[in-house]
Amino acid sequence: MAYKSDIEIARAAQKKPIQEIGDKLGIPGEHLLPYGHDKAKISQSYIDSVQGNKSGKLILVTAINPTPAGEGKTTTTVGLGDGLNRIGKKAMVCIREASLGPNFGMKGGAAGGGYAQVVPMEDMNLHFTGDFHAITSAHSLLSAMIDNHIYWGNELDIDIRRVVWRRVVDMNDRALRQITASLGGVSNGFPRETGFDITVASEVMAILCLAKNLKDLEERLGAMIVAYRRDKSPVYCRDIEAQGAMTVLLKDAMQPNLVQTLENNPAFVHGGPFANIAHGCNSVTATTTALKIADFVVTEAGFGADLGAEKFMNIKCRKAGLAPDCVVLVATVRAMKMNGGVAKADLGAENVDAVKDGCANLGRHIANLKSFGVPVVVAINHFVNDTEAEIDAVKAYVKEQGSEAILSRHWELGSEGSAELATRVAEIAESGVSEFKTLYPDEMPLMKKIETIAKNIYHADGVVADSKIRDQLKQWEDAGYGNLPICMAKTQYSFTTDPTRRGAPTGHSVPIREVRLSAGAGFVVVVCGEIMTMPGLPRVPAATSIRLNEGGEIEGLF
Ligand code: ADP
Ligand code: MG
Repeated sequence: MAYKSDIEIARAAQKKPIQEIGDKLGIPGEHLLPYGHDKAKISQSYIDSVQGNKSGKLILVTAINPTPAGEGKTTTTVGLGDGLNRIGKKAMVCIREASLGPNFGMKGGAAGGGYAQVVPMEDMNLHFTGDFHAITSAHSLLSAMIDNHIYWGNELDIDIRRVVWRRVVDMNDRALRQITASLGGVSNGFPRETGFDITVASEVMAILCLAKNLKDLEERLGAMIVAYRRDKSPVYCRDIEAQGAMTVLLKDAMQPNLVQTLENNPAFVHGGPFANIAHGCNSVTATTTALKIADFVVTEAGFGADLGAEKFMNIKCRKAGLAPDCVVLVATVRAMKMNGGVAKADLGAENVDAVKDGCANLGRHIANLKSFGVPVVVAINHFVNDTEAEIDAVKAYVKEQGSEAILSRHWELGSEGSAELATRVAEIAESGVSEFKTLYPDEMPLMKKIETIAKNIYHADGVVADSKIRDQLKQWEDAGYGNLPICMAKTQYSFTTDPTRRGAPTGHSVPIREVRLSAGAGFVVVVCGEIMTMPGLPRVPAATSIRLNEGGEIEGLF
């Protein structure tokens, strides 16, 4: 049987006008700000007006450590949202917007897959409602104002060797990673080294996704550290007086975007911070608003549960006062096989022993998630070549861990395939058994927080950090930043810092390469390993085969 591609399915979608989707949530027409027929922003006044409503149930979708076999978190998030609607629940989905640049490198969208997608998927993966362009503009304004300040006499006494605020563009462009700016003579300023990151790596993105409202947004923007003086004292964005104008540029981008799934159920697609140097979740505004207008909200965190779910709990939930009622851990038979040592090319053949061997990774994630006090359901995202014996092996393993695994066939069948998962998840979420707690308290010293994550989540023996890093953390504590949560930046492929170590390794340590303070976003980034904030394009970029066909449709994007 031939299966349709994601874009073929998306194009055939029977979309409803966005007003009808708003109606399902009870959003009055005047509070929908349509961007065409199938996208709308939600007005700030409406968001303010629903704050007193009772909150719905929050469901987090996360996954095992990713393998090249693909896990399908977004696909499962969308499929579960549709499944909940199918069984009669008022449910909505909250996911991230896609970065435009990477689409032109490797194929792969961010709108789900198969019969579990949000539409219009081409828009969502490209310019969408312009949020990321607004973030690029706000970031660029500050970049320009910093160099302009230096140009006009540098009253703040910025050490031009210590300007930490870089530039951003939403494109994979390795040529811009490290540049020399202000060349060309006196009228162009003072030459200095700097570089570009991709827009999603901007601290402005992280702030947009964590800010509670526009006032909070402005304050957080002002609190960003942009440079240091010769005496190493920080210069803030508010010293440059850019935060007001930046907020003006971001005012529309702060409003969540409403779209629909293939089954015409509502979805917010809003914000998309990096999952390494930032927390990797859609905006707090989208999630908290969704909870006020739907009974069930299904949302996703980037990467595997060791990074994505940990940050969702310890950063997003902590800051926004959220608490998940159920966690869905996505696993696939294929990924179990890869964890069990099977090469990607051999995944097609049944191999129950490899599935069993690979389950250790899944088991550790289950135990880790339970340590947050939340109930965990494993969703086996069904691939059409999975065999019954392999699926049974996963189910049996999960049962031994005192949890339950449910096969979900949303990719192939839409909500019909996810109804069983949805029924169980709804039961658990409604039961009120969740006793969510974060992993560490605010007042724990920064180094101790890092050790707690390394030991309890990565199951490492300890953390390796030289005195320079320890001194830096101490200085930030003295400067009043000690109560911030930690944002770990390490490989997503392993519990360790070595991407090749699959399964559930022990006996490793976590070497810290660098620490960075995101004072506006409100976390301390701990870099363990190579972190790329400006991707490059592959030898043959996907862009070479992207074009418009005669009907004006996009081809080659997915
Ligand atoms: P994640 O959110 O974990 O990165 P996605 O949900 O975006 O993963 O899925 C990645 C890719 O895998 C998508 O192209 C999707 O179509 C595909 N995919 C997901 N689930 C399945 C499945 N059950 N069968 C086949 N392909 C799938
Ligand atoms: Mg995803």
